[in-house]
Amino acid sequence: MTPKEVVQFAKENNVKMVDYKFLDFVGIWQHFSTPMSEFDEDTFEEGIGFDGSSIRGWQPIHNSDMLLIPVPETAKIDPFIEAPTLSLICNIIDPITREGYTRDPRFIASKAEAYLKSTGIGDTAYFGPEPEFFIFDDVRFESTCNQSFYAVDSMEGRWNTGRDEYPNLGYKPRHKEGYFPCAPTDSMVDLRNEMVEVLQSVGMRIEASHHEVASGGQCEIDMRFDSLMNMADTLQWFKYIIKNVAVRNGKTVTFMPKPIYNDNGSGMHCHQSIWKDGVNQFAGDGYGGLSKMAMYYIGGIMKHAKALCAFTNPSTNSYKRLVPGFEAPVNLAYSNRNRSASLRIPVTNAPAAKRVEYRTPDPSCNGYLAFAALLMAGLDGIENKIDPGQPLDKDIYGLSPEELKDIPCVASSLEEALDALKEDHEFLLKGDVFTQDVIDTWIEYKTENEVNPVRMRPVPEEFNLYY
Ligand code: GLU
Ligand code: MG
Ligand code: MG
Repeated sequence: MTPKEVVQFAKENNVKMVDYKFLDFVGIWQHFSTPMSEFDEDTFEEGIGFDGSSIRGWQPIHNSDMLLIPVPETAKIDPFIEAPTLSLICNIIDPITREGYTRDPRFIASKAEAYLKSTGIGDTAYFGPEPEFFIFDDVRFESTCNQSFYAVDSMEGRWNTGRDEYPNLGYKPRHKEGYFPCAPTDSMVDLRNEMVEVLQSVGMRIEASHHEVASGGQCEIDMRFDSLMNMADTLQWFKYIIKNVAVRNGKTVTFMPKPIYNDNGSGMHCHQSIWKDGVNQFAGDGYGGLSKMAMYYIGGIMKHAKALCAFTNPSTNSYKRLVPGFEAPVNLAYSNRNRSASLRIPVTNAPAAKRVEYRTPDPSCNGYLAFAALLMAGLDGIENKIDPGQPLDKDIYGLSPEELKDIPCVASSLEEALDALKEDHEFLLKGDVFTQDVIDTWIEYKTENEVNPVRMRPVPEEFNLYY
């Protein structure tokens, strides 16, 4: 839509309020609204001033005036606000220079797309993320927290999750068997359907919806892939809609990667491909039907995987998911059918569908930063012809320590990921996509606000072990 068409669209929908949404550094939507009477075509040019110092990881107070520039192509009617409301995602610019703000995740994503074009390797990078999430009701949420902290009782190698009952009289999904018995064992069908309807109502193409492996309300709803920036915008809408539909139904949703101890966590596998002039550059006649370019892309991701974790798995909780035995990858290997490898090449004959699935990322990430970082790592692999080595078509979880010793791993803590990023970020600075300031601020922000506060707190399991 052009600015003029957005104004027309708003009038046709009898819009009363305009809601401006933008991202903080971490990737959480912020917003404020103005009455429709304050909004017209010029708003897209003039922007709206706001105080950038109130946003996490942004401007210092003495330099806090920033300008929001709404992006007309992102116009939608907000499905949750009672008064008809036009919603616009915004870019952040400096009011004096009118240049994009380097810590705005959208600006970083746009520079990654521009960098791809400048290399001549392709014109479009497609991303297809598969965010998983848990739905809890209040009571279960309470008991999940307790169970997650206090589960201590092991029965024949099976942990007492606080939900398994003997006999199981309540159609409860058995441990690791949530994927995917019918109702009444899957009790989330209607709620997921409502989510799908609202997702579609804002123009999203939804491909599938199902319960996931974990026993209590873990779900997945799959979106159609899209270009990097569009997909990152869509992912924000996705999280917003999923959470708000849940709340509307007396439930809560979490995208935290590992809410329940000893059950599957929530990943956000990312399918990726690079296209040029309408042709998929990843299709070829090599391993798994991939091109040489796709192999080098894999090589780039494997080479930079630990540093990438700082963006693809950016929470302390992320590393409670990245443990063996729960379909979350720990080892850096690629394979064309292996769900224990971090890079899977989905089996498909259609050249257009040839792609690489990176299974390490989780939905606590900021999509703009994670997709941009992945693309930059893959491009580094292509530019430097980084060989990913041989595929590993074995169940990695079943390998002995001896067999595992030469297979590299993803980071095992947020601290390790941030340390890796400190050493390895040249590939992100190309084309000024991520600036040195962004890298330094990210490491500092994550260390001070997440790593240290978690590290300094005693956790309940320590009372079990040490009291
Ligand atoms: N929940 C698993 C993960 O943490 C993935 C399960 C699947 O293959 O969809 O990545
Ligand atoms: Mg899944
Ligand atoms: Mg997958």
